[in-house]
Amino acid sequence: MQALRWHGEQDVRVDDVPKPEIEKPTDAIVEITATAICGSDLHLYNDFMPGMQEGDILGHEPMGEVVEVGEEVDNLREGDRVVIPFTISCGSCWFCGNDMYSLCDETNPNAEMAAESMGHSPAGLFGFSHTLGGYDGGQAEYLRVPHADVGPIKIDSNLSDEEVLFLSDIYPTGYMAAENAEIEENDTVAVWGCGPVGQFAIQSAWMMGADQVIAIDRIPERLDMAQGHADTQVIDYSEEDVYDRLMDATDDYGPDRCIDAVGSEAHSTCVDTVPDEPDRPYVIQQAAKSCRKGGTLSIPGVYIDGMDDAPMGPIMNKALTINTGQTHVQAYLDELLETIEDGQIDPSEIITHTGDLDDGPEMYQRFNDKEDDCVKVVLEP
Ligand code: NAD
Ligand code: ZN
Repeated sequence: MQALRWHGEQDVRVDDVPKPEIEKPTDAIVEITATAICGSDLHLYNDFMPGMQEGDILGHEPMGEVVEVGEEVDNLREGDRVVIPFTISCGSCWFCGNDMYSLCDETNPNAEMAAESMGHSPAGLFGFSHTLGGYDGGQAEYLRVPHADVGPIKIDSNLSDEEVLFLSDIYPTGYMAAENAEIEENDTVAVWGCGPVGQFAIQSAWMMGADQVIAIDRIPERLDMAQGHADTQVIDYSEEDVYDRLMDATDDYGPDRCIDAVGSEAHSTCVDTVPDEPDRPYVIQQAAKSCRKGGTLSIPGVYIDGMDDAPMGPIMNKALTINTGQTHVQAYLDELLETIEDGQIDPSEIITHTGDLDDGPEMYQRFNDKEDDCVKVVLEP
């Protein structure tokens, strides 16, 4: 079969590889019909993430048709159409039992690699380095899905792949980011980053009753898209002073809730990879400085282990609450599928580019360079 594989910094290729097979009785094999490229893939693409090996299959936002199930999988059968969460979770450890699926204790066979620096390991993730399990990813014609009896959600309705695909990651991620922001009525919510995760965080903040939502980025097409969600106001950080604008919008109090949907790429250690933007603001610093005293910082943006310079001064002295984590996708699937079915949200609106696996290398480059109107890429193997 064909798969998109990582060969080093900004080097992704379409390769012929063996088709996956059932390895454990709780596995399923899924023939992939749609699979997206995520901002998290860009951390791998740019070689920020330790534990990548040449030949690793990328991709963690897939869906498709079940073609084979292991003998212990009794909730799925051949022919079922499923969306697959990026988090691989056993469903029975203490963490899964408490709906913290992305912290599953059982699914990272290389847990000691992650624990060496972080003390403990989160769950294994599809296509996300050997540090997080070394699982093959879903930017391929077929995918082996471990713990298939826990993760995948069956889609019985006529909704298109494009409408449901983002249940695999970025819709639950934007939604959990808004939930983690602890939004209350009359709150002002500021969202840094208008990529796919930011777009879903903005829409979720409105769903949760925010009074004012302010989105920050520098890419015109992404700011325009953000403005299309209710009354979202926007700030272009390359043109305006973000702190001043946020104070103007909040009577100098600062936003009650600040969401960092950017992550590593606006951290001091990665900013030098953006040669045209040497002064890109460090988002956590800007958010901690702007946030209302006693407010909340929600951080869906991914930080790689070792990026340790958190702005503890403002966080401690202004009594800010921080909520963060990889998304507990499985905990949100039923609830969010319903919001798509009843028409509250159409996730497919963020798709700007589609192609097949052969287009993958070019699409990685366009998405990475934030080229033209490229907000979200979906590949159809
Ligand atoms: P993306 O790269 O498409 O979007 C990031 C956006 O941030 C871009 O539009 C960029 O212009 C903007 N940006 C960069 N620097 C900025 C700054 N200083 N201020 C404001 N905006 C800035 O990525 P995405 O797919 O939207 O993902 C966003 C983040 O969420 C990534 O870090 C990704 O790894 C993470 N993520 C986390 C989870 C999770 O489970 N927590 C899941 C998926 C993605
Ligand atoms: Zn993702």
